[in-house]
Amino acid sequence: MRYRTKLVVDLKLLGENYTQLRKLAPANQILFMVKANSYGHGMIPIVRSAVEQLEIKEFGLATTGEALYLRQELPSLQFEAYVFSDVQIELQTCTDIYLHQRIIPVISSLSDLRFFLSHLQFRHFPLCLKFNTGMNRLGIVLNDLELVTDLLKKYQRREIYHLMSHLACSSRPLVPDDRNDQQYAAFTKIKQYLQDCGITVVKSSISNSGAIEQQFGLKTETHIRPGLMLYGPSSLGLAGSWQGKNISRLETHVISFFPVKQGDAVGYGGASVPEDGRIALIALGYGDGLSTRYRGVKIACGPAQGEFFGRVNMDMAQIFFPGDQLPNLKEGDIFTVWSHDIQDIMRLSFQMETIPYELVCQLTGRIPREYCY
Ligand SMILES: *Cc1c(COP(=O)(O)O)cnc(C)c1O
Repeated sequence: MRYRTKLVVDLKLLGENYTQLRKLAPANQILFMVKANSYGHGMIPIVRSAVEQLEIKEFGLATTGEALYLRQELPSLQFEAYVFSDVQIELQTCTDIYLHQRIIPVISSLSDLRFFLSHLQFRHFPLCLKFNTGMNRLGIVLNDLELVTDLLKKYQRREIYHLMSHLACSSRPLVPDDRNDQQYAAFTKIKQYLQDCGITVVKSSISNSGAIEQQFGLKTETHIRPGLMLYGPSSLGLAGSWQGKNISRLETHVISFFPVKQGDAVGYGGASVPEDGRIALIALGYGDGLSTRYRGVKIACGPAQGEFFGRVNMDMAQIFFPGDQLPNLKEGDIFTVWSHDIQDIMRLSFQMETIPYELVCQLTGRIPREYCY
Protein backbone atom coordinates (compact mmCIF):
# COMPACT_ATOMS: atom_id res chain seq x y z
CA MET A 1 0.00 0.00 0.00
CA ARG A 2 1.20 3.47 -0.83
CA TYR A 3 0.45 6.41 1.37
CA ARG A 4 0.20 9.93 0.00
CA THR A 5 0.81 8.71 -3.53
CA LYS A 6 -2.54 8.32 -5.24
CA LEU A 7 -4.75 9.11 -8.15
CA VAL A 8 -7.71 10.94 -6.63
CA VAL A 9 -10.78 10.54 -8.84
CA ASP A 10 -13.51 13.07 -8.11
CA LEU A 11 -16.82 11.70 -9.34
CA LYS A 12 -18.55 15.04 -8.78
CA LEU A 13 -16.39 16.35 -11.61
CA LEU A 14 -17.57 13.51 -13.83
CA GLY A 15 -21.07 14.88 -13.22
CA GLU A 16 -19.94 18.41 -14.07
CA ASN A 17 -18.33 17.23 -17.31
CA TYR A 18 -21.52 15.41 -18.15
CA THR A 19 -23.52 18.63 -17.64
CA GLN A 20 -21.13 20.47 -20.00
CA LEU A 21 -21.41 17.67 -22.53
CA ARG A 22 -25.21 17.85 -22.38
CA LYS A 23 -25.04 21.51 -23.40
CA LEU A 24 -23.13 20.56 -26.56
CA ALA A 25 -25.28 17.54 -27.38
CA PRO A 26 -28.68 17.94 -25.71
CA ALA A 27 -30.53 15.46 -27.91
CA ASN A 28 -28.12 12.55 -28.24
CA GLN A 29 -27.97 9.44 -26.13
CA ILE A 30 -24.57 8.57 -24.71
CA LEU A 31 -22.53 5.45 -25.23
CA PHE A 32 -19.75 6.14 -22.74
CA MET A 33 -16.38 4.61 -23.61
CA VAL A 34 -14.90 2.97 -20.52
CA LYS A 35 -12.33 0.70 -22.14
CA ALA A 36 -8.85 0.29 -20.62
CA ASN A 37 -10.16 0.49 -17.08
CA SER A 38 -12.02 3.70 -17.84
CA TYR A 39 -8.93 5.29 -19.38
CA GLY A 40 -6.96 4.34 -16.26
CA HIS A 41 -9.40 5.79 -13.72
CA GLY A 42 -11.00 2.53 -12.54
CA MET A 43 -13.91 1.10 -14.48
CA ILE A 44 -16.19 -0.07 -11.69
CA PRO A 45 -16.66 3.18 -9.70
CA ILE A 46 -16.88 5.16 -12.95
CA VAL A 47 -19.58 2.98 -14.46
CA ARG A 48 -21.50 2.74 -11.19
CA SER A 49 -21.50 6.50 -10.87
CA ALA A 50 -22.44 6.99 -14.55
CA VAL A 51 -25.43 4.66 -14.23
CA GLU A 52 -26.63 5.80 -10.82
CA GLN A 53 -25.91 9.53 -10.97
CA LEU A 54 -25.96 10.35 -14.67
CA GLU A 55 -28.38 7.75 -16.00
CA ILE A 56 -26.00 6.67 -18.73
CA LYS A 57 -27.10 3.22 -19.90
CA GLU A 58 -24.61 2.17 -22.56
CA PHE A 59 -20.90 1.52 -22.25
CA GLY A 60 -18.11 0.74 -24.69
CA LEU A 61 -15.28 -1.69 -23.94
CA ALA A 62 -12.42 -2.93 -26.09
CA THR A 63 -12.26 -6.57 -25.01
CA THR A 64 -14.62 -9.34 -24.03
CA GLY A 65 -12.75 -9.71 -20.74
CA GLU A 66 -13.36 -6.07 -19.83
CA ALA A 67 -17.06 -6.39 -20.53
CA LEU A 68 -17.33 -9.62 -18.57
CA TYR A 69 -15.57 -8.04 -15.60
CA LEU A 70 -18.02 -5.14 -15.69
CA ARG A 71 -21.03 -7.48 -15.72
CA GLN A 72 -19.64 -9.61 -12.92
CA GLU A 73 -18.74 -6.70 -10.66
CA LEU A 74 -22.01 -4.83 -11.21
CA PRO A 75 -24.56 -7.64 -11.49
CA SER A 76 -27.57 -5.67 -10.35
CA LEU A 77 -27.10 -2.57 -12.53
CA GLN A 78 -29.03 -2.21 -15.77
CA PHE A 79 -26.84 -1.23 -18.72
CA GLU A 80 -25.74 -2.32 -22.19
CA ALA A 81 -22.12 -3.28 -22.82
CA TYR A 82 -20.51 -3.22 -26.27
CA VAL A 83 -17.17 -4.82 -27.17
CA PHE A 84 -15.43 -2.88 -29.92
CA SER A 85 -12.10 -4.19 -31.13
CA ASP A 86 -10.98 -7.47 -29.57
CA VAL A 87 -14.21 -9.29 -30.33
CA GLN A 88 -12.98 -12.84 -31.11
CA ILE A 89 -16.49 -13.89 -31.92
CA GLU A 90 -15.30 -17.20 -33.37
CA LEU A 91 -14.00 -18.40 -29.98
CA GLN A 92 -16.56 -20.51 -28.17
CA THR A 93 -15.58 -18.87 -24.85
CA CYS A 94 -16.37 -15.43 -26.25
CA THR A 95 -19.58 -16.54 -27.97
CA ASP A 96 -20.78 -17.94 -24.64
CA ILE A 97 -19.98 -14.67 -22.91
CA TYR A 98 -21.91 -12.62 -25.49
CA LEU A 99 -24.92 -14.89 -25.32
CA HIS A 100 -25.11 -15.37 -21.58
CA GLN A 101 -23.91 -12.05 -20.25
CA ARG A 102 -25.86 -9.74 -22.54
CA ILE A 103 -22.73 -8.27 -24.08
CA ILE A 104 -22.93 -6.98 -27.65
CA PRO A 105 -19.96 -7.57 -29.98
CA VAL A 106 -19.43 -4.81 -32.52
CA ILE A 107 -19.13 -6.57 -35.87
CA SER A 108 -16.38 -4.91 -37.91
CA SER A 109 -15.56 -7.43 -40.63
CA LEU A 110 -17.38 -9.52 -43.22
CA SER A 111 -16.05 -12.74 -41.73
CA ASP A 112 -17.41 -11.83 -38.27
CA LEU A 113 -20.71 -10.86 -39.87
CA ARG A 114 -20.94 -14.22 -41.65
CA PHE A 115 -20.19 -16.02 -38.41
CA PHE A 116 -22.73 -13.97 -36.49
CA LEU A 117 -25.53 -14.44 -39.03
CA SER A 118 -24.93 -18.10 -39.65
CA HIS A 119 -24.97 -19.06 -35.98
CA LEU A 120 -28.49 -19.75 -34.84
CA GLN A 121 -27.71 -18.76 -31.29
CA PHE A 122 -27.28 -15.15 -32.43
CA ARG A 123 -30.57 -15.18 -34.31
CA HIS A 124 -32.35 -12.84 -31.91
CA PHE A 125 -29.26 -11.03 -30.78
CA PRO A 126 -28.85 -7.29 -31.54
CA LEU A 127 -26.67 -6.73 -34.59
CA CYS A 128 -24.18 -3.92 -34.25
CA LEU A 129 -22.17 -3.05 -37.36
CA LYS A 130 -19.14 -0.81 -37.73
CA PHE A 131 -18.10 0.55 -41.11
CA ASN A 132 -14.75 1.86 -42.22
CA THR A 133 -15.44 5.27 -43.74
CA GLY A 134 -11.82 6.34 -44.07
CA MET A 135 -9.99 5.64 -40.84
CA ASN A 136 -8.69 2.44 -42.43
CA ARG A 137 -8.28 0.57 -39.20
CA LEU A 138 -11.25 -1.64 -38.39
CA GLY A 139 -14.60 -1.75 -40.09
CA ILE A 140 -16.44 -3.15 -43.08
CA VAL A 141 -15.40 -1.33 -46.25
CA LEU A 142 -17.78 0.61 -48.45
CA ASN A 143 -17.19 -1.76 -51.37
CA ASP A 144 -18.69 -4.60 -49.36
CA LEU A 145 -21.94 -2.79 -48.65
CA GLU A 146 -23.86 -4.79 -51.24
CA LEU A 147 -22.48 -8.02 -49.84
CA VAL A 148 -23.66 -6.93 -46.42
CA THR A 149 -27.21 -6.30 -47.58
CA ASP A 150 -27.22 -9.62 -49.48
CA LEU A 151 -26.16 -11.42 -46.31
CA LEU A 152 -28.76 -9.62 -44.21
CA LYS A 153 -31.46 -10.62 -46.72
CA LYS A 154 -30.25 -14.19 -46.86
CA TYR A 155 -30.57 -14.50 -43.09
CA GLN A 156 -33.77 -12.46 -42.94
CA ARG A 157 -32.36 -9.73 -40.82
CA ARG A 158 -34.31 -6.49 -41.24
CA GLU A 159 -32.71 -4.50 -38.53
CA ILE A 160 -29.33 -3.12 -37.53
CA TYR A 161 -29.44 -2.30 -33.87
CA HIS A 162 -26.52 0.13 -33.89
CA LEU A 163 -24.68 1.38 -36.96
CA MET A 164 -21.30 2.96 -36.30
CA SER A 165 -18.20 4.45 -37.80
CA HIS A 166 -15.14 6.02 -36.21
CA LEU A 167 -13.46 9.31 -37.15
CA ALA A 168 -9.71 9.46 -37.76
CA CYS A 169 -9.13 13.20 -37.45
CA SER A 170 -11.72 14.68 -35.10
CA SER A 171 -8.93 15.86 -32.80
CA ARG A 172 -8.00 18.52 -35.35
CA PRO A 173 -9.91 21.77 -35.77
CA LEU A 174 -12.59 21.20 -38.41
CA VAL A 175 -12.08 22.57 -41.89
CA PRO A 176 -14.75 22.29 -44.63
CA ASP A 177 -14.31 19.26 -46.92
CA ASP A 178 -11.69 17.71 -44.70
CA ARG A 179 -11.41 14.07 -43.78
CA ASN A 180 -14.16 14.38 -41.15
CA ASP A 181 -16.58 15.67 -43.76
CA GLN A 182 -15.59 12.88 -46.15
CA GLN A 183 -16.08 10.22 -43.51
CA TYR A 184 -19.38 11.71 -42.44
CA ALA A 185 -20.60 11.81 -46.06
CA ALA A 186 -19.63 8.16 -46.52
CA PHE A 187 -21.45 7.21 -43.31
CA THR A 188 -24.60 9.05 -44.41
CA LYS A 189 -24.46 7.21 -47.75
CA ILE A 190 -24.14 3.83 -46.04
CA LYS A 191 -27.07 4.54 -43.75
CA GLN A 192 -29.22 5.71 -46.65
CA TYR A 193 -28.36 2.67 -48.74
CA LEU A 194 -29.27 0.29 -45.93
CA GLN A 195 -32.55 2.09 -45.34
CA ASP A 196 -33.30 2.05 -49.07
CA CYS A 197 -32.83 -1.73 -48.92
CA GLY A 198 -35.55 -1.92 -46.29
CA ILE A 199 -33.22 -2.34 -43.34
CA THR A 200 -34.12 -0.45 -40.18
CA VAL A 201 -31.25 1.33 -38.46
CA VAL A 202 -32.33 1.68 -34.85
CA LYS A 203 -29.35 3.59 -33.48
CA SER A 204 -26.35 5.25 -35.10
CA SER A 205 -23.22 7.06 -33.96
CA ILE A 206 -20.01 8.50 -35.37
CA SER A 207 -18.83 11.19 -32.94
CA ASN A 208 -16.09 10.72 -30.37
CA SER A 209 -14.86 13.47 -28.04
CA GLY A 210 -13.05 15.61 -30.62
CA ALA A 211 -16.13 15.61 -32.85
CA ILE A 212 -18.57 16.28 -30.00
CA GLU A 213 -16.45 19.16 -28.76
CA GLN A 214 -16.79 20.68 -32.25
CA GLN A 215 -20.48 19.68 -32.45
CA PHE A 216 -19.84 17.47 -35.44
CA GLY A 217 -22.09 14.56 -36.40
CA LEU A 218 -24.63 15.16 -33.65
CA LYS A 219 -27.85 16.18 -35.41
CA THR A 220 -28.29 13.17 -37.65
CA GLU A 221 -27.31 10.39 -35.24
CA THR A 222 -29.13 9.06 -32.20
CA HIS A 223 -25.95 8.46 -30.20
CA ILE A 224 -22.53 9.88 -29.40
CA ARG A 225 -19.55 7.92 -28.11
CA PRO A 226 -17.53 10.17 -25.79
CA GLY A 227 -14.53 8.93 -23.90
CA LEU A 228 -11.80 11.43 -23.05
CA MET A 229 -13.96 14.54 -22.62
CA LEU A 230 -15.98 13.00 -19.80
CA TYR A 231 -12.73 12.31 -17.96
CA GLY A 232 -11.82 15.95 -18.49
CA PRO A 233 -9.15 16.71 -21.10
CA SER A 234 -9.80 18.04 -24.58
CA SER A 235 -8.94 15.87 -27.58
CA LEU A 236 -7.88 19.05 -29.35
CA GLY A 237 -5.10 19.61 -26.84
CA LEU A 238 -4.25 23.18 -25.97
CA ALA A 239 -6.31 24.41 -28.98
CA GLY A 240 -9.53 22.97 -27.58
CA SER A 241 -12.49 24.97 -26.35
CA TRP A 242 -13.88 22.19 -24.13
CA GLN A 243 -14.38 23.40 -20.57
CA GLY A 244 -13.98 20.07 -18.80
CA LYS A 245 -12.35 19.48 -15.45
CA ASN A 246 -9.88 16.67 -15.03
CA ILE A 247 -11.69 14.13 -12.85
CA SER A 248 -8.31 12.90 -11.64
CA ARG A 249 -5.51 14.48 -9.68
CA LEU A 250 -2.13 12.74 -9.41
CA GLU A 251 -0.50 13.33 -6.06
CA THR A 252 2.66 12.14 -4.42
CA HIS A 253 4.95 13.47 -1.72
CA VAL A 254 8.45 14.81 -1.38
CA ILE A 255 10.85 12.18 -0.07
CA SER A 256 13.80 14.52 0.04
CA PHE A 257 14.47 18.17 -0.82
CA PHE A 258 18.12 19.07 -1.10
CA PRO A 259 20.41 21.76 -2.50
CA VAL A 260 22.56 21.12 -5.58
CA LYS A 261 25.44 23.06 -7.12
CA GLN A 262 26.04 23.71 -10.78
CA GLY A 263 27.82 20.68 -12.27
CA ASP A 264 26.67 18.20 -9.64
CA ALA A 265 25.85 14.78 -11.15
CA VAL A 266 22.41 13.56 -10.11
CA GLY A 267 20.91 10.08 -10.24
CA TYR A 268 21.38 7.27 -12.79
CA GLY A 269 23.71 8.33 -15.57
CA GLY A 270 24.77 11.36 -13.53
CA ALA A 271 22.82 14.18 -15.17
CA SER A 272 24.74 17.41 -14.68
CA VAL A 273 22.90 20.20 -12.87
CA PRO A 274 22.91 23.37 -15.06
CA GLU A 275 22.94 25.89 -12.20
CA ASP A 276 22.65 26.08 -8.44
CA GLY A 277 19.25 25.16 -7.10
CA ARG A 278 17.33 22.45 -5.31
CA ILE A 279 16.07 18.99 -6.13
CA ALA A 280 12.80 17.61 -4.90
CA LEU A 281 12.81 13.83 -4.97
CA ILE A 282 9.24 12.61 -5.42
CA ALA A 283 7.81 9.15 -4.73
CA LEU A 284 6.76 8.28 -8.28
CA GLY A 285 8.73 6.45 -10.93
CA TYR A 286 8.29 4.36 -14.05
CA GLY A 287 7.14 1.49 -11.82
CA ASP A 288 4.11 3.67 -11.21
CA GLY A 289 3.72 4.56 -14.86
CA LEU A 290 5.73 7.76 -14.93
CA SER A 291 7.83 6.98 -18.01
CA THR A 292 11.40 8.07 -18.62
CA ARG A 293 9.91 10.41 -21.23
CA TYR A 294 9.09 12.84 -18.42
CA ARG A 295 12.76 13.87 -18.54
CA GLY A 296 13.04 17.60 -19.19
CA VAL A 297 9.33 18.21 -18.87
CA LYS A 298 8.48 21.46 -17.09
CA ILE A 299 6.27 21.29 -14.07
CA ALA A 300 5.09 24.02 -11.74
CA CYS A 301 4.93 23.89 -7.97
CA GLY A 302 2.93 26.95 -6.98
CA PRO A 303 4.58 29.92 -8.70
CA ALA A 304 7.93 28.09 -8.98
CA GLN A 305 8.89 26.44 -12.28
CA GLY A 306 10.79 23.18 -12.09
CA GLU A 307 11.49 20.32 -14.46
CA PHE A 308 11.80 16.56 -14.34
CA PHE A 309 15.54 16.19 -14.14
CA GLY A 310 17.76 13.34 -15.27
CA ARG A 311 16.41 9.84 -15.59
CA VAL A 312 13.10 8.90 -14.00
CA ASN A 313 13.81 5.94 -11.64
CA MET A 314 11.60 2.96 -11.00
CA ASP A 315 10.30 4.39 -7.72
CA MET A 316 11.30 8.04 -7.68
CA ALA A 317 11.88 11.06 -9.88
CA GLN A 318 13.97 14.22 -9.48
CA ILE A 319 12.43 17.64 -9.97
CA PHE A 320 15.01 20.39 -10.34
CA PHE A 321 14.24 23.96 -9.29
CA PRO A 322 16.84 26.60 -10.23
CA GLY A 323 17.93 29.07 -7.57
CA ASP A 324 15.49 31.79 -8.60
CA GLN A 325 12.54 29.37 -8.68
CA LEU A 326 12.60 27.85 -5.25
CA PRO A 327 9.23 26.42 -4.26
CA ASN A 328 7.85 26.52 -0.78
CA LEU A 329 8.45 22.80 -0.20
CA LYS A 330 9.81 20.59 2.52
CA GLU A 331 10.21 16.88 2.97
CA GLY A 332 6.87 15.17 3.44
CA ASP A 333 4.89 17.80 1.54
CA ILE A 334 2.34 16.77 -1.06
CA PHE A 335 3.51 17.23 -4.64
CA THR A 336 0.85 17.44 -7.34
CA VAL A 337 1.85 16.14 -10.77
CA TRP A 338 -1.46 17.15 -12.31
CA SER A 339 -4.45 18.84 -10.74
CA HIS A 340 -8.11 18.98 -11.74
CA ASP A 341 -7.27 21.84 -14.10
CA ILE A 342 -7.12 20.09 -17.50
CA GLN A 343 -4.34 22.41 -18.61
CA ASP A 344 -1.90 20.52 -16.36
CA ILE A 345 -2.16 17.13 -18.02
CA MET A 346 -2.49 18.71 -21.45
CA ARG A 347 0.73 20.71 -20.94
CA LEU A 348 2.57 17.62 -19.70
CA SER A 349 1.43 15.50 -22.64
CA PHE A 350 2.13 18.30 -25.11
CA GLN A 351 5.73 18.55 -23.90
CA MET A 352 6.20 14.80 -24.19
CA GLU A 353 4.65 14.81 -27.67
CA THR A 354 2.04 12.39 -26.50
CA ILE A 355 -1.65 12.63 -25.63
CA PRO A 356 -3.42 12.87 -22.25
CA TYR A 357 -5.01 9.45 -22.90
CA GLU A 358 -1.59 7.83 -22.60
CA LEU A 359 -0.51 9.56 -19.39
CA VAL A 360 -3.47 8.27 -17.39
CA CYS A 361 -3.69 4.85 -19.04
CA GLN A 362 -0.07 4.09 -18.27
CA LEU A 363 -0.44 4.59 -14.51
CA THR A 364 0.07 1.16 -13.00
CA GLY A 365 -1.88 -0.67 -10.32
CA ARG A 366 0.75 0.39 -7.83
CA ILE A 367 -0.95 3.77 -7.55
CA PRO A 368 -4.09 3.51 -5.45
CA ARG A 369 -7.19 5.12 -6.95
CA GLU A 370 -9.13 7.03 -4.34
CA TYR A 371 -12.68 8.12 -5.10
CA CYS A 372 -14.52 11.09 -3.75
CA TYR A 373 -18.16 11.88 -4.33
C1 LIG B 1 -12.22 4.95 -27.81
C2 LIG B 1 -13.32 5.13 -28.78
C3 LIG B 1 -14.19 6.23 -28.69
C4 LIG B 1 -13.97 7.37 -27.71
O1 LIG B 1 -12.93 8.20 -28.15
P1 LIG B 1 -12.54 9.53 -27.35
O2 LIG B 1 -11.58 10.20 -28.23
O3 LIG B 1 -11.93 9.11 -26.06
O4 LIG B 1 -13.81 10.27 -27.14
C5 LIG B 1 -15.28 6.27 -29.53
N1 LIG B 1 -15.48 5.30 -30.46
C6 LIG B 1 -14.65 4.25 -30.59
C7 LIG B 1 -14.94 3.22 -31.62
C8 LIG B 1 -13.54 4.13 -29.78
O5 LIG B 1 -12.71 3.11 -29.92
